[in-house]
Amino acid sequence: MSFKHAPRHSQPHWVVTMNRRNRSLSFAAIFVTLASHIWLQQLSPWLLPILLVSFLVWPQLAYLRARESRDTMNAEFDNLIIDSVIFGLWISGLGFPLWIGFMLAISTSMNLMVFRGPRGLAQAFGGLTAGIVAGAAFTGMRFEPATHWLTTVMAVSSISMYLLLVGYVSYSRNLVLHEARERQRRIESQLKQQIEENRLLQERLHEQANRDPLTGLYNRRYLDDSLQREIDRCRRQQEPVGLLLIDIDHFKAINDEHGHASGDAVITQLATLLGSMSRASDIVCRFGGEEFLVVLPGTGREPAMERAEEYRQLFANTPVITEAGAITATLSVGVACWIEPMSPDELIREADKALYRAKNEGRNRVIFGTLDPAAAPEGA
Ligand code: GH3
Ligand code: MG
Ligand code: MG
Repeated sequence: MSFKHAPRHSQPHWVVTMNRRNRSLSFAAIFVTLASHIWLQQLSPWLLPILLVSFLVWPQLAYLRARESRDTMNAEFDNLIIDSVIFGLWISGLGFPLWIGFMLAISTSMNLMVFRGPRGLAQAFGGLTAGIVAGAAFTGMRFEPATHWLTTVMAVSSISMYLLLVGYVSYSRNLVLHEARERQRRIESQLKQQIEENRLLQERLHEQANRDPLTGLYNRRYLDDSLQREIDRCRRQQEPVGLLLIDIDHFKAINDEHGHASGDAVITQLATLLGSMSRASDIVCRFGGEEFLVVLPGTGREPAMERAEEYRQLFANTPVITEAGAITATLSVGVACWIEPMSPDELIREADKALYRAKNEGRNRVIFGTLDPAAAPEGA
């Protein structure tokens, strides 16, 4: 197996295909025009085979050359320069016939200009000049600008056809470009939309992962993430942090007497009450079955106790209306305040101990949980 040759593409580059079509067509028109000139001006018939090679054979050779080349664009560009040399040869070889010269010079200039801009135009002039000089050296310098009217008509028609072809090609390339741009724009906007949808979905998933489905309150997972953060923030700002652990009294009995759905309604009502009575900076979460935890940043012992008392009284005085009838329930609340160097777990444990005492001392009450109440900050 040999790797010496460049891999041959099954489909040649679109420029190669386009140039083959354009070159074959326009060179055929030039062939007919120049043949008419040779015939009508009664020039040497030996020019005809050279004309045939120049304008019918060369376009096919140029195509093969570009197709087989490693660097297609460069090969095509070289072909265009060879075109202009050939044109130069014919211009001086025929003695500068005006219409023919114009047709050949303008078409090769246009081709190279389309390909490489002003640099291409300069190269077309270079190629033409080289051809003209070589032609003059070969056949001698003659000046016979006149063409038969029939040849003139052919030359003008050929130029017109060629210019229209250039216009058409640039129109269709523009169309393709425009469509590609439109497609890209559509894909981009679809992509943007998808990214936005993903972002919203992620936000929703994140929110769902932090929320309790029954009450919509934050869950324990969110608390684990945020309690340490709140403690750190309050430590920096030298503010107290209060914490309430709230448990519904004899909830098992409520479930047993009124059914699980009614038990859910009681839980939901307490959640609504806690949510509506808390500040934006408070963190209210469902800690477990019928247990709730409220973090009160910036709140010391007294106001925390007051808040717990408000919750307790309001809940006790607001019967929950369920399908099984009105249910009146009570709360026990353990209150704790953070003091250096308590960890979040220790703070919760303090509140839990207080809750335990509240249960033991008869339920439906608020108990402060730090062993030494004097150590806890007094107020907000
Ligand atoms: P105590 O006064 O000592 O707190 O007594 P209690 O009956 O409330 O005791 P405990 O806290 O142990 O009981 C909690 C009960 O709550 C047990 C469980 O079946 C029930 N429970 C937990 N989650 C839910 C829930 O989402 N909905 C309902 N309806 N009940 C729940
Ligand atoms: Mg309970
Ligand atoms: Mg409980």
